[in-house]
Amino acid sequence: MNVLLLGSGGREHALAWKLAQSPRLARLYAAPGNPGIAQHAEIVDIAIADHRSVIDFCIRQSIGFVVIGPEAPLVAGLADNLRTMGVRVFGPNKAAAQLEGSKGFTKDLCARENIPTAGYARVESRDGGFAALADFGLPVVIKADGLAAGKGVTIAFTPEEAQAALTAIFAEPGGSAVIEEFLEGEEASLFVLTDGTALMPFGSAQDHKRVGDGDTGPNTGGMGAYSPARVLTPELEREAIETIVRPTVEALARAGTPYSGVLYAGLMLTRQGPKLIEYNARFGDPECQVLMLRLEDDLLDLLLATAEGTLADRPAPVFAPDTALTVVMAANGYPGTPQSGGAIRGIEAAEADGARVFHAGTRQDGNTLVASGGRVLTVTASGPSVSEAQAAAYRAVDRIDFPTGFCRRDIGWREVAREG
Ligand code: ATP
Repeated sequence: MNVLLLGSGGREHALAWKLAQSPRLARLYAAPGNPGIAQHAEIVDIAIADHRSVIDFCIRQSIGFVVIGPEAPLVAGLADNLRTMGVRVFGPNKAAAQLEGSKGFTKDLCARENIPTAGYARVESRDGGFAALADFGLPVVIKADGLAAGKGVTIAFTPEEAQAALTAIFAEPGGSAVIEEFLEGEEASLFVLTDGTALMPFGSAQDHKRVGDGDTGPNTGGMGAYSPARVLTPELEREAIETIVRPTVEALARAGTPYSGVLYAGLMLTRQGPKLIEYNARFGDPECQVLMLRLEDDLLDLLLATAEGTLADRPAPVFAPDTALTVVMAANGYPGTPQSGGAIRGIEAAEADGARVFHAGTRQDGNTLVASGGRVLTVTASGPSVSEAQAAAYRAVDRIDFPTGFCRRDIGWREVAREG
């Protein structure tokens, strides 16, 4: 079968690496791709935002299956348009992708279905927001609605900070916000494949959003992750699936907009049990890299079963029991303006002991690999414990020569501390 993979990050390199191992794969194409993805796929020049050109390519190259990596094409309805043309797709339609695209949509669904989540108010004006603040204690969480790549969330510790966040959101015409109760606990990510009816738990992870060691500095797209997240015990995972994920999937099916793809639940493990912070409609980046390193089954088979609605017939997926841990190497300046063009060497040496280096923001400049984005590489390794996986990942990182880049040195610190 010919497969088209859409996206250009470390997540998509990990997906390409795993898809390429499938005996069911004939040819793998990717757009826009990156030099790492190019090791496993033929890179093709199609603009993802132009749905017509994606469809034309699928027809021309007899593409049997499209795997959509990032959220933007899902929220824009690319999966709908491909399905209308009879192309099988991994990823939800536009209506179901609102779980990620609109925080208000998700909060309203949680309220209707009694899904445990933070108490909230949706507000449509600055003054409405100021008035609603009276119903919340401190700290309070202020979120811009719509896709904000992790940058639309403020945790306000004073009324002035809360008001400033609301003022910023409503400075733009058409602004819309959600005010939320602050949840206390440890965060964990749970991944579930669903074809709209059946649910297949697909691993857990914890990520590190802040740019600096000790979880300091501004938020980023993610500086590292590890899997599994042992804080999400099998009991807590079952509770999260039964109280959060299942009612969500059932509600969407009842509404005539079934969810097909991977559902990524960002959870807060509170004293009252798991509560939903947010949903994403795709794999996390860099969480996907650690899941793919642990997955022992045929990824193409599992994603196809999701798209075809046959998950109920399949056994649970097999993941290696080892921990996988990934460290993001970013270009200096990230998450502000990253320094572009810096040379990267030593990837082969880094992979010599079994680590995998997934490319994110790289490009080939003649014979030299150079940085071309904020997050540049995700260096991924595994081990029988988090400490050993961490040591293996940093051994690989230290073999990479990337003078204009940096990384956190403490990915996995919570688990490493617990392991003593
Ligand atoms: P991303 O998709 O990058 O995770 P986002 O813009 O969708 O970000 P959220 O995931 O909703 O935003 O929130 C980002 C972070 O803010 C969370 O990972 C969590 O650390 C914190 N946060 C969000 N909501 C709450 C809450 N109600 N209580 C405590 N912390 C919260």
